[in-house]
Amino acid sequence: MDGPMSDTATPETHEFQAEVRQLLDLMIHSLYSSREIFLRELVSNAADAADRLRFEALQDASLFENDPEPEVRISVDAEARTVTISDNGIGMNRTDVIDNLGTIARSGTRRFLDALTGDQKQDAQLIGQFGVGFYSAFIVADKVSVHTRRAGEPASAGIRWESDGKGAFTLESAPREARGTDVVLHLAEGQDEFLERERLRSVIRRYSDHIAIPVRLLDEAGEHDTVNQASALWMRPRTELGDDDYQQFYQQLTFDTEPPLRWIHNQVEGDQSYTSLLFIPGQRPFDLFEPESGHGPRLYVRRVFIMEDREHRLLPRYLRFVRGVVDSDDLPLNVSRELLQHNRQVDRIRAASVKRILDTLERMASDDAEAYSRFWNAFGTVLKEGPVEDPKNAERVAGLLRFYSTTAEDAPTVSLADYVERMKPGQKAIYYLTGEGLAAIRNSPHLEVFRKRGIEVLLLAEPVDEWLVTHLPQFGDTPL
Ligand code: ADP
Repeated sequence: MDGPMSDTATPETHEFQAEVRQLLDLMIHSLYSSREIFLRELVSNAADAADRLRFEALQDASLFENDPEPEVRISVDAEARTVTISDNGIGMNRTDVIDNLGTIARSGTRRFLDALTGDQKQDAQLIGQFGVGFYSAFIVADKVSVHTRRAGEPASAGIRWESDGKGAFTLESAPREARGTDVVLHLAEGQDEFLERERLRSVIRRYSDHIAIPVRLLDEAGEHDTVNQASALWMRPRTELGDDDYQQFYQQLTFDTEPPLRWIHNQVEGDQSYTSLLFIPGQRPFDLFEPESGHGPRLYVRRVFIMEDREHRLLPRYLRFVRGVVDSDDLPLNVSRELLQHNRQVDRIRAASVKRILDTLERMASDDAEAYSRFWNAFGTVLKEGPVEDPKNAERVAGLLRFYSTTAEDAPTVSLADYVERMKPGQKAIYYLTGEGLAAIRNSPHLEVFRKRGIEVLLLAEPVDEWLVTHLPQFGDTPL
């Protein structure tokens, strides 16, 4: 054990939770080929810590401790072979450290671990989507040391966490004047490329350019220079932004390995000003059906991050696959969840966003069949919740639905409008058959008489379909 020892600061050893050990092992083995992402993860944690400080400081400005400008600093010590990522964010106390850097608190992790296939390539994709977080430090380091102190607590509350990532970590009291966190990576054999500033610079540019606070790199002369754009991309004029900017921003926001299918950027001014930048992803995240997964847009008020839309106030649940940012100029900074529940500005932002998303999906469906089929395969099941959840837009959402039918048995490509157009003369209703599994429905004896008469039947095999058809009595004038 190294590090300063005193009577009051004897390091104590804690075991990692079993899931952490499993995750570490997996990550180190399947992410080796993209090991540079450790930096993205640590910078993103540092930026989150700055967001949380700013948010808590809204109630208690003394938390800034006369150092109100959040930033991330990265430095290198070639002799010691360390890379240090420092922030002046919220920091952690002893309880925070034990809770956050020894267990996996996030819901869905168990399911994530179950979803792994053992195929390295596929698993690496899954891990990428999952966002690997702090533990990714061990992809490049054989020892990690975290020195931190929570904002608002005395220097004596400082604490040091250290681990070789194998089975345990140590904790010792380590006083610290400045609030915030240093993460020191002792690079493993063969990782010396990360001692080169140019290498670090290019990784930061690639993955963290759109982090909204400055990421500074300490140069040879001991000066810090800002490496990233350090501005809120959504506030920049649309005319200044290219496809690359949007795609990069999306990737940095979501860690998705695929580019988004569409984005919708709106800067609304008037008696109520807000900006929204919404993305329609191209693949389904593994935890789309987790009740607590943090999907949906992030809410900002005047560039300060407030919360993720876990309660589906900014968008209804059936559009929870949409990612992005909503930044209001008019909501109070100390906006609470309760206030969000009953707020006319939020209602208006929500209605306008739903309309824009439905417009975009309709356009995609009519102009770009390939993109729409990718969208449908990823999120169709979720969209089917729409007519139930959002009766006002039921008709529009119904128009976006796609189904298998007796004339399209291989892919869900039939829209209700297609169906109505193909109806036989005298046919008065849209016919469907529900059941468990497509194969079973296809072979149902009920279909025979329809097949003989050349009448198309929609084949509804998903559990959500039963629910859908009971809430969708008709499409246009045609009953189902
Ligand atoms: P995630 O960030 O996805 O929650 P991580 O494994 O990256 O998962 O981090 C776990 C938790 O540790 C974070 O949620 C946060 O509470 C805490 N944490 C990590 N890095 C920092 C940091 N630099 N400053 C403050 N807290 C941090």
